[in-house]
Amino acid sequence: MAPVPSEEELTAEYGKMLEQMRKTFDTGKTRSLAWRKQQLRQVIKMYQENHELISETIAADMGGSKMRGVAEISAASSADDCLANIDEWTRERWVGGLFDRQYIRPEPKGVVLIISPWNVPWQLSIRPLASAIAAGNAAVIKPSELNPKSAPLMAELVAKYLDPECVRVVEGAITETTALLNNRWDHIFYTGNGQVGRVVMAAASKHLTPVTLELGGKSPVIVDETAQIDVTVRRLALVKWMLTGQICVAPDYILVHRSVEKQFLEKLKAQVQASYGQDGKEGGDDYGKIVNERHVDRLENLVKTAGGTVVCGGTQGIDREKRFVPPTVISEPKLDAPIMQEEIFGPILPVLAYDDFESALKMVREKEPPLAFYIFSQSSRNVEKALSYIQSGGVCVNTAFEHLLPETLPFGGQGASGMGAYHGKFGFDEFSHRRAIFVKSTLPGKRGTLIPLPEAGKPLPD
Ligand code: NAD
Repeated sequence: MAPVPSEEELTAEYGKMLEQMRKTFDTGKTRSLAWRKQQLRQVIKMYQENHELISETIAADMGGSKMRGVAEISAASSADDCLANIDEWTRERWVGGLFDRQYIRPEPKGVVLIISPWNVPWQLSIRPLASAIAAGNAAVIKPSELNPKSAPLMAELVAKYLDPECVRVVEGAITETTALLNNRWDHIFYTGNGQVGRVVMAAASKHLTPVTLELGGKSPVIVDETAQIDVTVRRLALVKWMLTGQICVAPDYILVHRSVEKQFLEKLKAQVQASYGQDGKEGGDDYGKIVNERHVDRLENLVKTAGGTVVCGGTQGIDREKRFVPPTVISEPKLDAPIMQEEIFGPILPVLAYDDFESALKMVREKEPPLAFYIFSQSSRNVEKALSYIQSGGVCVNTAFEHLLPETLPFGGQGASGMGAYHGKFGFDEFSHRRAIFVKSTLPGKRGTLIPLPEAGKPLPD
């Protein structure tokens, strides 16, 4: 067996890789609009020719099939969106000047690092990659080691379809990620939990490298007394138990007005049983698995220590070997229990009743700003009040999760749920430097330019 390389050896090895990639970047190869478009087409081709294989490996890692396939393949449409808009996005913007010319040129940052988590492994690697390429960067992806089948396939397909001088995948766990972080990058885009987010930010600060942190948190839901309960229950149940609740914007806990609490809980239980059966085991393939046994144990502990009343699901249904935790609803858990303190990131949903809207808002506001905030209400006054009082990365009104789908909305957190945003043009901007250029004329009485302006996205002249 080959000896396991040390962190120092890996740091040096990745340093050499980075040096080579930076040399390639300096040739202007990735700045070329033709290269960017060709690479984005290759991303789409990679998905078109391999979507079944991608779905199979994800199913092997995480269980589930159809829903997973759809979630993962949507990264191809992000590449498509970049292709459709890249000419416009890369254009220099003239912003003024009377005896001079002032313009802003979006420029690539250089060689960027994308560190991704296990829950939606392809989308959370390739969607930022499409933005990085569209912005003209070279990029290294570090997928999660918790996807033992998906990560090697990603390495294989990226090497086959994309330009190996400019786009790489480095597989590995904490030692490899630490060794990557020991080097100087031009931008680091990290998706995962906040604890590691702090490690990434500390490493980046040594080189003053800008970071995007796509983190998680406890995304709350308020259901007020004016909400349409049938629609609310259907929409919440669909989103909460999609991918076994292992989604960063999954509803984490629900605050429901006491006057509709009983009706809400009855309908929620009926909906869960209609979709997943009495024991929660009839959801079919799409329900999926918990990522590993450690997380099954973590979730079991959250239920055991929650207090309150189990409305459906609970610990009896948990099957550690099959990595199965049933859809679980817990009414009135203890506020100081871990389930109300930590991000759940699994198929368990605590529900608490509130008496007045202000106290519900206050309870949300007392926690860190979440990645998403959801409100189900027919009262525009309540919606407006909540929007002005509660901070969060994004918001949905009368639905959940959907704000992360369109390329037209920025996706990102605030405070403890992250910094920076991507999707569509926001991703392009995240991986670009907005360079201010001021050109002064030397001809008396004339405004004009002293240098010929290169076409946006064209390689640098020799
Ligand atoms: P994870 O354990 O796969 O970790 C994410 C990445 O960090 C991996 O590539 C891993 O190798 C690396 N890593 C882990 N420990 C490290 C360490 N000590 N030093 C350096 N690198 C390390 O995934 P996770 O963190 O369990 O993912 C779940 C979290 O991610 C949840 O909090 C969820 O809300 C969040 N999330 C956020 C988004 C978003 O878009 N905002 C999307 C998905 C998940």
